[in-house]
Amino acid sequence: MTADSHIDPSIPPSGPGCVECTAAGGWWLHLRRCTQCVHIGCCDSSPSQHASAHAASTGHPVVRSYEPGEDWYWNFQSQDYTEGPLLAPPQHHPLDQPVPGPAGRVPPDWQRHLN
Ligand SMILES: [Zn+2]
Ligand SMILES: [Zn+2]
Repeated sequence: MTADSHIDPSIPPSGPGCVECTAAGGWWLHLRRCTQCVHIGCCDSSPSQHASAHAASTGHPVVRSYEPGEDWYWNFQSQDYTEGPLLAPPQHHPLDQPVPGPAGRVPPDWQRHLN
């Protein structure tokens, strides 16, 4: 595992939730942070899988977990964990944001919608 040279640690995340889900009124299970731009996307278990879609459409392969207590990096190109520098804060979504989230938009049968 080697540090990925494309990562820009100076860019703060766009906000507390998945960019596309927030715009569309959707929900997510876990969040992933693009390490090359501001994008926050939802994980591959989420209904819409916006983090991997962002990686595929932009060529930004490396995400960092945006979950509290998680500090790993994942490379969608190599399909493997990688390493990276400490990114600009915040390191995770707000602690009062539920998982799955966001509050008020998760259906009661959410587990049936996971991938
Ligand atoms: Zn999403
Ligand atoms: Zn990006």
